[in-house]
Amino acid sequence: MPSDVRNVIVIGSGPAGLTAALYAARANLKPLVIEGIEAGGQLMLTTLVENYPGFPKGIMGPDLMGDMRAQAEHFGADVVRAHVTSVDLMARPHIVRTPDAEYRCRSIVIATGASARLLGLHSERALIGRGVSTCATCDGYFFRGKPIAVVGGGDSALEEALFLTRFATHVTVVHRRDSLRASKIMQDKAFANEKISFEWNAEVEDIKDTGKGEVTSMVLRNNRTGEVKEVPVHGVFVAIGHTPNTQLFKGQLETDQGGYIVTHSGTRTSVPGVFACGDVQDHIYRQAVTAAGSGCMAAIDAEKYLEGLPQHLGEAQVTA
Ligand code: NAP
Repeated sequence: MPSDVRNVIVIGSGPAGLTAALYAARANLKPLVIEGIEAGGQLMLTTLVENYPGFPKGIMGPDLMGDMRAQAEHFGADVVRAHVTSVDLMARPHIVRTPDAEYRCRSIVIATGASARLLGLHSERALIGRGVSTCATCDGYFFRGKPIAVVGGGDSALEEALFLTRFATHVTVVHRRDSLRASKIMQDKAFANEKISFEWNAEVEDIKDTGKGEVTSMVLRNNRTGEVKEVPVHGVFVAIGHTPNTQLFKGQLETDQGGYIVTHSGTRTSVPGVFACGDVQDHIYRQAVTAAGSGCMAAIDAEKYLEGLPQHLGEAQVTA
């Protein structure tokens, strides 16, 4: 095996990728992390994170990611600011390409995450982390005693709405049709909850107030009648689904119906030497701490895999 072959390349730099890098670095595997377009992952879009253990007063999402990256680098991980354009997982060694370089490696940890789908409004983007959120578990607590809205009609939307009734005075579910996609049991629970009401056939046209940098109301348009109205809310939770970032691996790895990578026996994928962790393989928990935990597992799985390879050579250098 030539010496320019890396032991481990980690693709993605959210909590899963950086934890995998930390563990791989401490195992002396000199991992290379290719950050990706959304460097730092979804926590870069949040403000205060109060549910990551170890921070009794919370920590700002970008600060947490900066610290995770610094910790991984401190132990010898190399982090490159680039996005992966293609991979060849079947090749031995595996090949990972960025716009400027081609890397070869004995194992790969995929930690490309999932992106929360957004409505596509300018105001939504401007107010994310300032009243607009894609994670009720993370941000619900900030809306104690306030009216809020959840957008979407699937299980996630109703689960978030039900969860948010613990904090909010009222939760308005905004759905673009007149019937829900969610399972019957979730519908029954939501209909029975006095704090939840529905805006049917409704689309969010705008979220105010970008000038103030906080959410004060949402503007809804009824797509049947054309009626437009403004509803005062302090938070808007967008729960219209997630898209796993697996486009790069299409046709090379087993994925489920939703496009998530299928893992087995820990973080192993359908290709030996390729491991997956974090939201790219988890559509259920989707938490920073669970992503970090699975990143740790992926690094340990990769280490075990490398130990079993006859040509394991230890130190390696980057090709570019
Ligand atoms: P989902 O089932 O795909 O539902 C997405 C919802 O968002 C749909 O109601 C959809 O409307 C709406 N939507 C999509 N794009 C929109 C847009 N641009 N503007 C407005 N509304 C939009 O996604 P999910 O709720 O995240 O669930 C994903 C999977 O996880 C599902 O299989 C679900 O059952 C599962 N899940 C299960 C649980 C549970 O069992 N407790 C909890 C969460 C998720 P339409 O209905 O009109 O298409």
